[in-house]
Amino acid sequence: MHPKNTGEDALPNFKVMADREIEAVLISHGHQDHTGTLPVLMRRFPNARIFMTEATAEIGSTLLHNSVNVMTRQHKEIGAMSYPLFTHRETDRASELWHWCPLRQRISISGERARQHEKDAVTFEFFDAGHVLGSTGILLRAEGRTIFYTGDVNFDDQTIMEAAIFPEEKIDILIMECTRGDHAKPADWTRAGEERRLAEAIDRTFKRGGCVLIPVFALGKTQEVLALLYKFRRERLLSEFPIYIGGLSSKMTDIYDRRASMTRRQLPRLQLMEETAPFVLNGQTIHDAPARAGRVYALSSGMMTPKTLSNIFARRVVENPLHSVFFVGYADSQSPAGLLRDAVPGVEVMLDPDESGQRVRCNIEQFQFSAHAAREALIDYAKKLSPRKIVLVHGDPPAVEWMQATLTSELPASEIIVPPPGIEVEL
Ligand SMILES: [Zn+2]
Ligand SMILES: [Zn+2]
Repeated sequence: MHPKNTGEDALPNFKVMADREIEAVLISHGHQDHTGTLPVLMRRFPNARIFMTEATAEIGSTLLHNSVNVMTRQHKEIGAMSYPLFTHRETDRASELWHWCPLRQRISISGERARQHEKDAVTFEFFDAGHVLGSTGILLRAEGRTIFYTGDVNFDDQTIMEAAIFPEEKIDILIMECTRGDHAKPADWTRAGEERRLAEAIDRTFKRGGCVLIPVFALGKTQEVLALLYKFRRERLLSEFPIYIGGLSSKMTDIYDRRASMTRRQLPRLQLMEETAPFVLNGQTIHDAPARAGRVYALSSGMMTPKTLSNIFARRVVENPLHSVFFVGYADSQSPAGLLRDAVPGVEVMLDPDESGQRVRCNIEQFQFSAHAAREALIDYAKKLSPRKIVLVHGDPPAVEWMQATLTSELPASEIIVPPPGIEVEL
């Protein structure tokens, strides 16, 4: 699903596949841009088999049901005619058909566990991508050749997620994400240092009588932030304070908690909902939630899309110099989160086109806790594999351009491909 578009414009370009059969769909992880229109795809290609990890299936089904609710509301509010693009029933039926696959097991596209003598079979194998719960990179093997797709990956530990464990053997073709390709890693950046900087910034806000808003994605970033806040309290960097999250975020956090001991992660015994005891806000209660001093509001959406909890709350705090808005992950520069993050103090921003503009007087800071690999780590990984071809995906144009230029000079023997949408690429 295209994260910046809405309605039918957000659907994949099915036209280019109109006269094809799709045998299988491999889902790397549960984020909306990877699963958000899966029921539509399954309607168009009813014979395609769908593969993902069990955690991604649980996350995906919860997110898709939430999307149905959001789309139904938008249909009523703004008369988006094509909405909802799919229904609750269709989502239930779709998720019943998903095949759950463990990590590190060779599975044939036909759905069977691969047998040794099946030399001709196309097989895939999931590897832990360290990005969010259930996330994978996917190794395809066919005709004695290999394609590895990184999905969204992190090669560093986060607070909950552990760094990716990816294949290091020779790969023929590498399909690689480039989300952070336009950000150089600051020389003095360390995760521990960044954590301390965040704790101190929260403390400063509390001391001057303000609250902190952290816009987060419901899946991944919410749980990482809750775990960070838990650590700050345990390490006595901060004393007890109330935390607020959104309804969808609490459902995602429940999944993290339920799967805590089944997954490879840090703090495996930490039950986030129990230990951090967040108050849960929804689309109604957010309207009566005042910005109270000494509290952290970790609300979605991460991009502060209009009408979401983080957008509504941001409009409440943005003009007050006591409060803080802290950005801790990716936000498109044209999104309301991007606009506010890059805003000059005192200048007017328009966070919701249906509301009036507001002057930015709150404290705004940015912290680097990305769930995506640093570009330096992506380049190192590509050099380790030194594949014949590298296909660059999942990045804004400046990010892809930097990756392409760097890989071209560092790996002169490899062909670097930036695939234009809708054009077939011969691998
Ligand atoms: Zn992702
Ligand atoms: Zn993604």
